Amino acid sequence: MLAYSKEREIALQATIVASQFCEKVRRDQASQAFAKPDHSPVTVADYGAQALICQTLKAQFPQDAVVGEEDPLVLSSPGMQSCLDQVTAYVQTWVTGATSQDVLDWVGQGQDPTGQRFWTVDPIDGTKGYVRGDQYAIALALIEEGVVQVGVMACPALPVQFGGTGGPQSPGVVFTAVRGQGAEMLSLASGTRSPLAVNRISTPQGFQLIESVERDHGTPEWQHRVIQSLGWQLPPLRMDSLAKYGAIARGEADLYLRLPTGNSLQRRENIWDHAAGVIVLEEAGGKVTDQWGKPLNFACGTKLQDNEGIVASNGYIHEAVLEAIGERAEA
Ligand code: AMP
Ligand code: MG
Repeated sequence: MLAYSKEREIALQATIVASQFCEKVRRDQASQAFAKPDHSPVTVADYGAQALICQTLKAQFPQDAVVGEEDPLVLSSPGMQSCLDQVTAYVQTWVTGATSQDVLDWVGQGQDPTGQRFWTVDPIDGTKGYVRGDQYAIALALIEEGVVQVGVMACPALPVQFGGTGGPQSPGVVFTAVRGQGAEMLSLASGTRSPLAVNRISTPQGFQLIESVERDHGTPEWQHRVIQSLGWQLPPLRMDSLAKYGAIARGEADLYLRLPTGNSLQRRENIWDHAAGVIVLEEAGGKVTDQWGKPLNFACGTKLQDNEGIVASNGYIHEAVLEAIGERAEA
């Protein structure tokens, strides 16, 4: 049996269940969101998906630690009673007899950043996209001694290909990767699995940039200025969530830039916002570093403390982009 087969299969099933959960909540509740203490939005689906995923991981891999984005202390705070009641009611549709305490316990199982081997979970990456009716991802990755070994990300609203049928009504796709074993995409509509490979484009004039919909999650003006010096021409694609890594892994985009400047220079990225996407893209032949060319270091706790900015590419244009960033930084 191939290494990590069980991990990949359990993670795949857990993200598929979470996708169905999130899509059901989105159909029922449209754009209802609550505010976390840091003012970022959170929904019934973020908590429910984390509860279901953690419950599965702890049942299947009781020795493994899990680090999830959502905090049960927020969900159990007085202002969130209505959210907790709704999460519990939805989770009961999936787990008969589940109580609010069970939900809090399962969400809380994802609060243990201690292991040499641990899972990191983002139950909904791109909550703003989820609420807007756009793209989002359910991300799960297994990290061992700082190395991402398995990554799974479900994109419930992403069609099998751009321009194809799909969108918010389609059951979407799931990207999976195991270190050294390549990356695949599963179509949730047909069950078809296809191997993933980046676009071999190396000429800057023809490459496709992809970046966040939320402009303040990067610095689009600076990002564009950097690659204009390479002769970049095509208008950028904009997409929420880790789905951007999937778009490059399947050859529909070539470069994802997430460059902090000004006030956000001190900000460090969360591991769960990148781990699954990084391994999917690397196993499809792409490359991911920070803006100075350093590999992402997943051994620093919940943040990528050692890294500034993200440069994810098809690999072929990576060095040219890093050089352009370096030159502009010196200028
Ligand atoms: P995206 O969908 O690519 O725009 O990224 C969504 C992620 O952006 C969320 O998971 C947040 O953790 C993260 N985020 C929130 N605020 C910022 C910020 N100011 N800069 C960069 N990332 C952010
Ligand atoms: Mg996130």
